[in-house]
Amino acid sequence: ADWAAAVAAVHGVPAGGTVLLVCHVNPDGDALGSMLGTALGLRRLGITQLQATFPGATQGSPTGGYGGPPEVPEPFRWLPGLDLLVPADAAHPAPDLFICFDAASASRLGALVDRLQTAGTAVVLDHHASNTRFGGIHLVDPGAAATSVVAEGLLSRLEVPLDAEIAQCLYVALATDTGSFRFDMTTPAVHEMAARLLATGISPGDISRRIFDTRPFGAVRLYGDVLQRAQLEPDAAGGVGLVWTYATLDDLARHGQKAYVLEALIDSVRCAAEADVSCVIKQVGPAEWAVSMRSKGAVDVSRVAVALGGGGHRLAAGFTGRGSVEDVIGAIRAEL
Ligand code: 5GP
Ligand code: MN
Ligand code: MN
Repeated sequence: ADWAAAVAAVHGVPAGGTVLLVCHVNPDGDALGSMLGTALGLRRLGITQLQATFPGATQGSPTGGYGGPPEVPEPFRWLPGLDLLVPADAAHPAPDLFICFDAASASRLGALVDRLQTAGTAVVLDHHASNTRFGGIHLVDPGAAATSVVAEGLLSRLEVPLDAEIAQCLYVALATDTGSFRFDMTTPAVHEMAARLLATGISPGDISRRIFDTRPFGAVRLYGDVLQRAQLEPDAAGGVGLVWTYATLDDLARHGQKAYVLEALIDSVRCAAEADVSCVIKQVGPAEWAVSMRSKGAVDVSRVAVALGGGGHRLAAGFTGRGSVEDVIGAIRAEL
């Protein structure tokens, strides 16, 4: 990782200079947490012209007044630093420094991709093995459990001390991407980082309850419908068991729910012991689906995702599917 260049880029922001932080489209806990934690750290350094955004972010405060999607998912609307969030089309057109978070490729930045050209310097913080190194300075560590691990590394090299607000952001990111410290990438270094974050006095129980365990009652009923139609295909591809289900926009409307409530659906589906690969197909448009895939180890689902135009990690990946549910699951079966 190019730490020295990244530190120099931050120190090189002129007085009154602009910094734009961006994370990937449909931001998750790691995208938002690593971005906002870093933003708060830069504010502590005295940088005042700071903006944070993500592709499609709309007008209004994230704690109310949002016009419609895309928006900050409700479970993250309490994060410190959300006051730095601006609508994507209000973001500085040519910032002195541009930093992007948790995006494996430029396509994950939507229309904000043009800042790679217009910015004085573009720094990429990420942990995807598939990162295409699309910026100027790269802090990309495929061994890191979350982008927030890289963000903490940068803040410490900038000599920004961790405070509770920064720690809440980085903890949300770390807890999200490690599945609450359950996945294999939960190394001793991850627990050591968690210890540093907890030492600032933040409450892990409170944070976990807010981000993982608080959903509207309608989401409980919605899960009932969607799990009821799950399919098990014990021999989907050469003996690799596949379990899958789908959720339509009508399912969401019937229960009065927003798309973010389906984020954790894959965790319920992937329990099926008979399946190595699990898949959730979530409708986002008339013939457009956000697909989540998980593997228990036998299959590298990122290869399936990349083959179908997406990306991700070996055991967790996704892509945008087109056509009908049958078209999408058929394409997955074929790739498996
Ligand atoms: P999830 O299933 O939780 O939405 O995503 C799991 C992982 O798959 C993410 O961390 C991300 O790396 C990757 N991923 C999900 N959807 C997409 C997509 O549409 N395009 C790409 N390139 N990666 C995706
Ligand atoms: Mn992410
Ligand atoms: Mn991540």
